[in-house]
Amino acid sequence: MQLTVLGCSGSLGGPQSPASGYLLSVPGEQPVVMDFGPGVLGALQKYLDPNSVAVLLSHLHADHCIDLAGLLVWRRYAPVPAVGKTALFGPPGTAERVGAASSEYAGELDDISDTFDVDTWVDGTVVKVGGMTVLPRKVNHPPQTYGLRVTAPEGQTLAFSGDTGVCDEVVDLARDADVFLCEASWTHDPANRPPNLHLSGVEAGQMAKAAGVKQLALTHIPPWTDTEAVVNEARSQFDGPIFAVAPGQVIEIG
Ligand SMILES: [Zn+2]
Ligand SMILES: [Zn+2]
Repeated sequence: MQLTVLGCSGSLGGPQSPASGYLLSVPGEQPVVMDFGPGVLGALQKYLDPNSVAVLLSHLHADHCIDLAGLLVWRRYAPVPAVGKTALFGPPGTAERVGAASSEYAGELDDISDTFDVDTWVDGTVVKVGGMTVLPRKVNHPPQTYGLRVTAPEGQTLAFSGDTGVCDEVVDLARDADVFLCEASWTHDPANRPPNLHLSGVEAGQMAKAAGVKQLALTHIPPWTDTEAVVNEARSQFDGPIFAVAPGQVIEIG
């Protein structure tokens, strides 16, 4: 299983990176994009035909889903439009949220059922997509948000925190993962840290240690946050390999 970082800028797009989006692929299976924030559709075009992908959404904040309005245009109107529907997994309200983003009229919803087969996460219930098994767990972030544990056909595991504050569910989700893709949105400064929203580098490192992960890949660092400071904070808590992901980076899982 391979993870290609399409975008990793936290909370919004940055000068060097789109917002959240990660391409997951298993040879011979349908590719899957996990989160679809601003700029992700453009980055995806470097790698494959956007019509080919299934989509997983951790939650419905704009920085994780809003480029799906563009994917709708691609699927419907590109010179070779999509045939049939593709899977779109997300929290309750996904069809309405994407439909509102895509509608040309304020207050109306675009009906996306012609091109997306929308399925709603059920906490703790696995789904199969792209040759992978995906376990969603509800995490500590408004609105309803899911961390995802993705298991490859040969058993390698990627745990993705989604956006979250500290919670036991993320530690459970990341237990012994080969790669823990964890958000770290700010430094460990109480003045900058409302509770139950995001993680600092210190907290990401603590959760990686508690879960016993093999590698910690930090993501969702906003343009206004010092990446090196966040990585150093995590390093103060977790002894294993740590890096901040970058757009275009390819990570072999396992
Ligand atoms: Zn976010
Ligand atoms: Zn969020």
